[in-house]
This record gives sequence, C-alpha cells and structure tokens, in this order.
Amino acid sequence: MSDERTEEEKSEGQNFQKIHVVAEECTSCSLCYETLPLVYIDRGDGISFVHDPSGIATQDELQESIDECPGECIHWGPDDKPE
Ligand code: SF4
Repeated sequence: MSDERTEEEKSEGQNFQKIHVVAEECTSCSLCYETLPLVYIDRGDGISFVHDPSGIATQDELQESIDECPGECIHWGPDDKPE
C-alpha cells in the first residue's frame, strides 16, 4: 500500500513517537483513544497505550491530548522502560 501522506504529514506523524503514556498513572478514562484512535489504543484493560508509529497527529493534537488527560500521564519523550 502506498503512503500518500505529504512530507509535512509524515513529519508530524513522527511526533507520535515522542510521546508515551505512564500506564501506572492512567485512570482508564478513555478520552485519549476515543479522541485520537490513530495514536492511542486501549491495551485491553482500559489503560491507554501509544500504538502506531505511523499514526498521524499534529503537534497541537498531541499537546491537547496531554493537556486534557485527567491522569496527567501522557508525556513528551520516548518511553525509556523496556516493553
Ligand atoms: S486520557 Fe490519560 S487517563 Fe485517560 S485513558 Fe488516556 S492516558 Fe489514561
């Protein structure tokens, strides 16, 4: 399948890799994965997980999801813990 995104969209999509959810702090409210399902997913128990490296989200959309997270558990930067 060809990738028809523009270079700008691809660049914005790469922002996705710079955020992570601290699972221990997630309240399972579902806000992030209902709002940005290309970025976040319910890992199966209601806890959010950043799931798709090719997902598209703008910097503003990611910042909004960080700002609106009631658990304050979405952060910029890579998750430095092993899977
Ligand atoms: S918005 Fe925050 S607290 Fe709610 S599911 Fe997403 S990461 Fe968890």
